[in-house]
Amino acid sequence: MAPILFDPSAIDTVIFDFDGTLARLNIDFEQMRRDVASLIDRWGVDPRSLQNRFVLEMIGEVQALLGKNSGDHAASFTREAFRIIEEIEVEAAQSGSLFDGAKELFTGLRKASLQAGIITRNCEKAVRTVFPDIHDYCPVVVCRNDVRRVKPHPEQINLALSRLGAKPGRCVMIGDHPIDIETGKNAGTRTAGVLTGRFQEKDFLRAGADMVLREAPDILRRLKPEDF
Ligand SMILES: [Mg+2]
Repeated sequence: MAPILFDPSAIDTVIFDFDGTLARLNIDFEQMRRDVASLIDRWGVDPRSLQNRFVLEMIGEVQALLGKNSGDHAASFTREAFRIIEEIEVEAAQSGSLFDGAKELFTGLRKASLQAGIITRNCEKAVRTVFPDIHDYCPVVVCRNDVRRVKPHPEQINLALSRLGAKPGRCVMIGDHPIDIETGKNAGTRTAGVLTGRFQEKDFLRAGADMVLREAPDILRRLKPEDF
């Protein structure tokens, strides 16, 4: 493991990504991409011009494109696109599960007087399907529905920090995707990658992460070595 690159005692807040960091949802992103691409095609836009984008960014781009001619068309397209992706997300959530130790992680953070929040590009319905009592464990959860611009834009993390009354300089953002590292950097937080998704230590270091953890609960030992 790479050494920690900041003073752990300066951290009082931990913000987590959800899918791949606290839970396994097995969302079929390829299916989602195909379904959204065929919707885009039906609206008369060539989806091949958008194939390097994440699905949410594809939707945003087509919404902007259609909106140049008709606000109504843009709104109907967007409604339909989100219906498609929510159906896939909620279905995945039904067979998804929280990682072992996720609830204990939040209990441990509270004991250690560390604040916690979750930010996710997923929808609230899917998150609550996997973690129905999420608010008993984590006071602040910012889903896609709560903001205009999702990660890697800093709006979600900024909203979470403001709800917690926390400062970016005293926060670490933890996630399983380099986009989570980018999000933390965009907001001015410290960052940590976890190896419970499909990315490796070298991917996080390349993205500029301050540390890499095997799994999210390891943050307790890293921040409060005397207690855990
Ligand atoms: Mg993730």
